[in-house]
Amino acid sequence: MPDRPPRLGDVIDDYCPRCRLLLNHDVASLAPEGGVAKVTCRTCFNTHDYRHAQLPTRRKAKAGETKSLMEQVLAGMPPPPEPPAAPPAPVRKRRDLWAEVERLKKK
Ligand SMILES: [Zn+2]
Repeated sequence: MPDRPPRLGDVIDDYCPRCRLLLNHDVASLAPEGGVAKVTCRTCFNTHDYRHAQLPTRRKAKAGETKSLMEQVLAGMPPPPEPPAAPPAPVRKRRDLWAEVERLKKK
């Protein structure tokens, strides 16, 4: 950038919103303060406000749009059915040896 103030027709870098690239632009109009007001893209000849060669910030997705497709599908599904109750564990009859002795004594 030269030290002198910009003049009409100067070539400067700027972001072209139509080309979506940082490209050479001609100064098309100057602001009263001496800055560049509008520039014309030398590639597509689109005239737009001077953007100070700043790339636009990427649009952020809304909070609801950040969910992945899989999460959206899962959110719409009914809850999974309850798993069937586990079969009762086989109850092993422990032989009470003392009760067995008493039973035999009675005989
Ligand atoms: Zn352009």
